[in-house]
Amino acid sequence: MKDKIKKINKLLVKHFGIPKRSKKLPDPINTLIATVLSQNTNDKNSYQAYQNLKKKYKSWSEVAELTKSELEKVIRVAGLGKQKSSAILSFLKTLKKRNGKIDLGYITEMSDENILDELTSIKGIGVKTASCVLLFSLDRNICPVDTHVHRTLNRIGIVKTSSPAKTFEIINKHLPDGIAHQFHTNLINLGRAICKSSKPICSICPLLLECKYKYKNLEKSDSVNVSRFLLLDSI
Ligand code: SF4
Repeated sequence: MKDKIKKINKLLVKHFGIPKRSKKLPDPINTLIATVLSQNTNDKNSYQAYQNLKKKYKSWSEVAELTKSELEKVIRVAGLGKQKSSAILSFLKTLKKRNGKIDLGYITEMSDENILDELTSIKGIGVKTASCVLLFSLDRNICPVDTHVHRTLNRIGIVKTSSPAKTFEIINKHLPDGIAHQFHTNLINLGRAICKSSKPICSICPLLLECKYKYKNLEKSDSVNVSRFLLLDSI
């Protein structure tokens, strides 16, 4: 599987390039909260909600003092306000209770597995959110799996799984060193622009010859332009 992943990654890099990332990695708390905000919405709305929080409050400690409905109002643009405000408040309060302060600096010395266990033990924080902290803030070689990554990897035939959690488990066992950020980001680019959920545009796909998907759509299509803005590389 490692060789297949390498081959697919190479084709994606040839097509989409090596994704840019900010020189200074974001603080783990910023990444975690931005990822919670990004669930079930687009990057534009979650970025707006994240900016609302950062502009209105000086610190995450201030946010931790808000009531659920106060927080819900500020992040409304990202949708699922009740669920997201609960997860954010539960995370900030748990951190304070466990460590006496709102800081995730202590996880930087921990192994990937221990960080996943530590973060997912907090109510409302799932594997996808925890794995985004590993990749985007700690630069670990971990590929988070969202719906785009899950769908494209299954269509290509690298995995055959029924849930993003299972895909995450398998893909990260076989991920070649040093490619997590480009592989993850380019699979999202592929899923957004070409291998769309409802109807893939296989005629312009750089993976056409490698892909095992049975229901390819080979209708002719012009190349598509989709925003490459990625929330977690922009905070
Ligand atoms: S060939 Fe089609 S189904 Fe396969 S990855 Fe490309 S767009 Fe998706």
